[in-house]
Amino acid sequence: MQQNLKVYNSLSSSKERFEPLSPPYVGMYVCGPTVYSDVHLGNLRSFLSFDIIYRYLTHIGYKVRYVRNITDVGHLENDADEGEDKIEKKAKLENLEPMEVVHKYTQGFHDVAKTFNLKEPSIEPSASGHMIEQIDLIKRILKAGMAYETNGSVYFDVMKYHEHTHYGILSGRVLDDLISGSRELEGQDEKRGPLDFALWKKAAPAHIMRWPSPWSDGFPGWHLECSTMSTKYLGKQFDIHGGGMDLKFPHHECEIAQCVVGYGASPAKYWMHANMLTVNGQKMSKSLGNSFLPQQLFNGNHELLDRAYSPMTLRFFMLQTHYRSTLNLSNEALTAASKGYKKLANGLRVIGQLTYPSDQQGVIDEQVNQQIKEFCDNCYHALNDDFNTAKAIAHLFNILKKVNSMHNGNFDIAQLTPETFERMKSTFRQFVQEVLGLTEEKLNNQDQLLEIVIASYREAKVEKNYEKVDSIRNQLKNQGIVLKDMKTGVDWAYEE
Ligand code: ZN
Repeated sequence: MQQNLKVYNSLSSSKERFEPLSPPYVGMYVCGPTVYSDVHLGNLRSFLSFDIIYRYLTHIGYKVRYVRNITDVGHLENDADEGEDKIEKKAKLENLEPMEVVHKYTQGFHDVAKTFNLKEPSIEPSASGHMIEQIDLIKRILKAGMAYETNGSVYFDVMKYHEHTHYGILSGRVLDDLISGSRELEGQDEKRGPLDFALWKKAAPAHIMRWPSPWSDGFPGWHLECSTMSTKYLGKQFDIHGGGMDLKFPHHECEIAQCVVGYGASPAKYWMHANMLTVNGQKMSKSLGNSFLPQQLFNGNHELLDRAYSPMTLRFFMLQTHYRSTLNLSNEALTAASKGYKKLANGLRVIGQLTYPSDQQGVIDEQVNQQIKEFCDNCYHALNDDFNTAKAIAHLFNILKKVNSMHNGNFDIAQLTPETFERMKSTFRQFVQEVLGLTEEKLNNQDQLLEIVIASYREAKVEKNYEKVDSIRNQLKNQGIVLKDMKTGVDWAYEE
C-alpha cells in the first residue's frame, strides 16, 4: 500500500494524505444516476473519475467497498422540492409504468458502463428499495427537533441546524448570502425558511409513486436516500463520498446535515468531486444543442461530430485531463485521443511479444535501467498525487518509447537487467489495463477481412495454384468457415 497517496478533499479545500478509517478497508459511496433518461457524457465522466479511484485504490492493495446508488424515486425537476418527479414525468410521456422507466434506463446505464469498461460497484442499492430506512431517518431528525411537519410533508429546519452546526461547511456557501439569493417563499409556504429542504413530500392525488408513512402517503426527498444507503452499507462514518461537482450543493451539503442530526456524525472523511465537461468551450446543455449521449459519440450520429469515436478513444480522451479540471470536448481533441489510444494499444501488443534473451550477453546500461525505473515510479507518483491520470499517461508514453526502440531493434533488451525488463512490462500493462482500464479494441470488420481472403482464393483458382486453394480452405475451416464453389461464384458459410 502506498503511504504517500494524497487526495483533494472538498471539505478542507486542500490535498490531504489519504488515511482510511480502518485500513486496509476503504468505504466509498458515489451518487449514481437518476434513471429517467440515457446517461449523458458529463455523468459518464464523473463515473469514470471514481472508477479510476476505485481501480487505483484496489491496485495498491486496499479492500474497497464501492457503493453507487440508483436514484429511482424522489428526484424532482430542477432538483427542487416542487415540480414533477423526473421518472413519473417520463413514464407519462412514454406511456409506461414508472418502474418500466426505471428498468429501461438502469439497463441502458449498465450497457454504457460495460461498453466504457467501468467496474461494477460492490453494491448498487436503489432508493425505492430503502423506504423503511429513509422513514427511520426522518423520524430521528424529527425527534432531534431539526425537522417539522406541515400538511403531511416534512422539512429539514436549516436555520435551526445552523445555530449549532455550520450549514455550508462543504460548499463554502454563506447562509446569509443563500437566504438573500433565494426566491420568496411564495408558493412554498409549507416551509418555515427558504433554505429548508424536503425530507418527505405528501403525494398529490395524481402522483403515482407513493408509499405510506406516519405523515402521509408520499415519497422521500431526494437528498435522503444517499444519507441512508451510504451509512447502511458503509457505516455511520466512512472514507470517501463522491459525485459530480454539481452535486456539492445542495445535495451533499444536505446529506451532511441529515447525517449529523440523524446519526450523530458527518458521514464521510473525504468528499471528492469530478469537474464538468464542456463542448467547444461551452457548457453542455440540451438547449444549446451540444449535449451528447455516449452512443452518439460511438456511432458518430451528431451534427457536431466529424466521425464516430470508439469507447476506448473516449475513455483515453477523458483520462488525459485530471478529474478536477474541466474537460473540453472537440473533434480535434478526440481525433488526437484516437491516435494516442491506438499507440498505447499497439504498445500492449508489442510488449507481449518482447522476451528477455535467455543467453544474456549484453553489457548492462545503468543509465537506461535507471531511466526506466524512474518512468515506472513516476506512474505511481502521478496517481498518488490526487489520481492524476494525465501525468500517468505522459509517463506511460515515455515507457512506450523505450518499448518501441526494443521492438524495432534499436535497443538491445540484454542491456537491461531481467528485473528492470519485467518491471517495465508489468508496470506498462498494469497501468494501461488495470488502473486506466484501457482494453484492446478488436477490429470490427470481420466481413471485410473475409472478403480479402476470398479474393485471394479466387485468384489462386484462376492461377490453378491448387496448393494455395487447399491451404486457404483448410485455414478457414479451422476457424469454422467453409468456402462454397457455386455457379454464381464463391460464397462462404459457417461450418455446420
Ligand atoms: Zn447522492
